[in-house]
Amino acid sequence: MIGKITKLSIESAEESRKNPETAERMAAAEKGQAPRFLIISPIHRSSQDIQLLRFGQGDAFHATRVSGFPLLPPDSSTHLFAAPAAYNRQFPEKTGVILTFDIDESQENILASIESVSQHPDIDDIPTIALRVDYENGRARVLPHRFGRAYEVENYILKRLSRPDVLDDDTLIIICSDSRVIPPTTPNGLPMAIQTLGAHVPHYDMNIEETVQLNEFFKEWLSNETVERRIIVVVHGNFEGDGHSCGAGYASLHPETINGSYLESIIEELNHEAEMFESHKPESPEERVIAIGNATLSNIKTYPAVQDAIQRGAAHDEFMRILEMDTVTNVVSPYDMEPL
Ligand SMILES: [Zn+2]
Repeated sequence: MIGKITKLSIESAEESRKNPETAERMAAAEKGQAPRFLIISPIHRSSQDIQLLRFGQGDAFHATRVSGFPLLPPDSSTHLFAAPAAYNRQFPEKTGVILTFDIDESQENILASIESVSQHPDIDDIPTIALRVDYENGRARVLPHRFGRAYEVENYILKRLSRPDVLDDDTLIIICSDSRVIPPTTPNGLPMAIQTLGAHVPHYDMNIEETVQLNEFFKEWLSNETVERRIIVVVHGNFEGDGHSCGAGYASLHPETINGSYLESIIEELNHEAEMFESHKPESPEERVIAIGNATLSNIKTYPAVQDAIQRGAAHDEFMRILEMDTVTNVVSPYDMEPL
């Protein structure tokens, strides 16, 4: 499976180079990122949302909501929501925050999620576009709300809708929020994805609500047959010789340069946790993101639902892997790690 994902990413990069529009995006990605949108997607829909809105490389920065649960207030969801939204503040042209909901999502979840966006000091002045989406048919409806709206942006979004490819819910990708890195496609479709700064997922803590929600996600996902299920941590950087390193990985090597409470605490944590997987000070952000990837895998193993699944025999050779992705081409290659 890993071999097939790698091959697909190479083919996709070749296609992108031939198409003038995507080739231009790759050239822009070499210089940096200036996404106009922040998308907060449920884990199941993270990759599909990019196709649904016909977004390409560089269009949208990402944060994550646990499927079936409301987006938590920023203080209760620092990794999945608050820190990526704080990072988004630096981009010059912030057109909208997009929240997507499944067709059967409860009104209660929707209202609580929009309220949580309105409580984040770094995004509360950006128009919020809430969409109820029929992913099977590629349709969506704008949900009215009482916080900041911009009708022209809502209309722009509605005109872009397109039917996404099918979901591959056997694969969970953990990848950076960076707008230039798109979760890799699998032979079975578009994977689920958790998108956070540096592809970092915190360890389980029963007193931290976002990790309790994540454990519920893992419990449901890993409850039955787990033979085909796999978790792939995708770290990114300048792995092919041109372009940018991971911004969060770079920042974690220089935590003193970071301002803002949500960002400061997460970047400090990245630095601290990565150090536990390093024998010496890394010479590049590319070395650093490998250590962050290892910290994420180690943290995922602290979730009771994951531990339970491993005990039941989910730990096949490819259950947990790290892939390296080039920020510009999005080509992935396996990072050789110790077996689970
Ligand atoms: Zn990154």
